[in-house]
Amino acid sequence: MAAVPLTLDNSYARDLEGFSVPWRPEAAPSPKSLFFNAPLAEELCLDVAALSGEAGTALFAGNAVPEGAEPIAQVYAGHQFGGFSPQLGDGRAVLLGEVIDRAGQRRDIALKGSGRTPYSRGGDGKAAVGPMLREVLIGEAMHALGIPTTRALAVVATGQPVLRETVLPGAVLTRVAASHIRVGTFQFFAARGDTARVRQLAEYTIARHDPDLVGAPGRFLGLLERVAERQAKLIAQWMNVGFIHGVMNTDNMTISGETIDYGPCAFVEAYDPKAVFSSIDSQGRYAFGNQPGIARWNLARLAESLLPLFDGDEDEAMSQAMGVIYTFPALYARHLLHGQRAKLGLRTAEAADDAADAALADDWLALLHAGRVDFTLAWWRLADAAAGDDTLLRSLFVDAGAPDAWLARWRERCVREDEGASSSGEATAAATRAARMRRVSPWVIPRNHRVEEALTAASDDEDLGPFDRLLEALRRPYDENADNARYAEPAPADVTACYRTFCGT
Ligand code: AMP
Ligand code: MG
Repeated sequence: MAAVPLTLDNSYARDLEGFSVPWRPEAAPSPKSLFFNAPLAEELCLDVAALSGEAGTALFAGNAVPEGAEPIAQVYAGHQFGGFSPQLGDGRAVLLGEVIDRAGQRRDIALKGSGRTPYSRGGDGKAAVGPMLREVLIGEAMHALGIPTTRALAVVATGQPVLRETVLPGAVLTRVAASHIRVGTFQFFAARGDTARVRQLAEYTIARHDPDLVGAPGRFLGLLERVAERQAKLIAQWMNVGFIHGVMNTDNMTISGETIDYGPCAFVEAYDPKAVFSSIDSQGRYAFGNQPGIARWNLARLAESLLPLFDGDEDEAMSQAMGVIYTFPALYARHLLHGQRAKLGLRTAEAADDAADAALADDWLALLHAGRVDFTLAWWRLADAAAGDDTLLRSLFVDAGAPDAWLARWRERCVREDEGASSSGEATAAATRAARMRRVSPWVIPRNHRVEEALTAASDDEDLGPFDRLLEALRRPYDENADNARYAEPAPADVTACYRTFCGT
């Protein structure tokens, strides 16, 4: 077999003793490539030609480990649905190593579904074709929407069946991440009272994600503040595209601020803060509208883990941590409003307008909620309204007059902004505003029924056509054209009402 053309570094294994175990992926009996992300491979400065061939398939199946690599399984803990699990870890994942990308950033390359590890507990260490291709679709869609995310580099079918409720074809996903350090990674050592290792991990994390804080006094609190900032921004972006993660356990919340672990996630169709699709979230803990509050709760778990690093005096440490946790709602609100303003076609952001603009956005959402209007289409059609044509927006409401009062208020706000900016003419201002809005609110999102359709064809019939076509549409989310119209259509309401997602286990 050809040598694997990939040089990996292993800073996590090298710098952090006791945070992982050396582990080898299990070989797949008859690997077959289903997906290879050439643009991402280029971004990572990899040998695209070699990796898109046989050597790549062997690597991405776990059948060949690059020379000099020291693959590991990482350990972590986590609060799952509010209950603490002191011992989790990579139960079906192996971190092959790290590369430095074109922008000079260190990125992890890991396999998921590559067999049992010492952290598998009762699990089989395997993954199925459907959920791994799902991770490709949603991750690439998020990336195209400008939302920080781990990304899929490849998916290989193993040729081995995986037993779930039914027998499914097995697969291995190659995942690229800014790092796999989670809130739960800190929790693992904090729960054991191992402050030395919490400190070691914090220093490593700062060097990797916030290098400007290296050696600075107060850097550990600084790290907490940075994570708060990244997560506030991330969740605001989720909320502004209607993304429901579905399983925001602390082991699924990264320190880097990337979205990770696309299990039972889904996009909201008709706007509803209570929307839940995950079959295991019977209490609605991770419902769409709960996500900002859960992020703050998770952040408090990180703060608890870091507490001894903030100050020798426990009360003082606690008050510093609380200071950050208390600011989270305001941070989140700032990021949310920033995104909403862009979606409303507004550019001015004087503090004096904050309350009025937030109310304008809230009332718009209340209107969509009351009318059970499709979230994505409503924003898209609002751009048509900005260009001067209300018809398509109105047609989304059962009562076409329902948005009237709100539209009048919004138009007034737009006019005020244009007057302030001494616009060159009404028609130009309208066209420019509409064009701007169409660059921030997508036409195509991964509609649940389209995702299922693509995955069923791939998994049941080995037909990757629907998957490839959907992926292509998702990579250009802001283009409206005849070719992608079917991907922009909402699912029939009865399909959405019965739609359930499952953890990719
Ligand atoms: P998740 O809900 O996918 O984030 O996974 C939670 C924990 O369960 C992690 O420690 C995973 O590694 C582990 N896990 C999930 N699925 C499996 C599986 N099929 N085999 C072994 N471990 C698993
Ligand atoms: Mg996870």
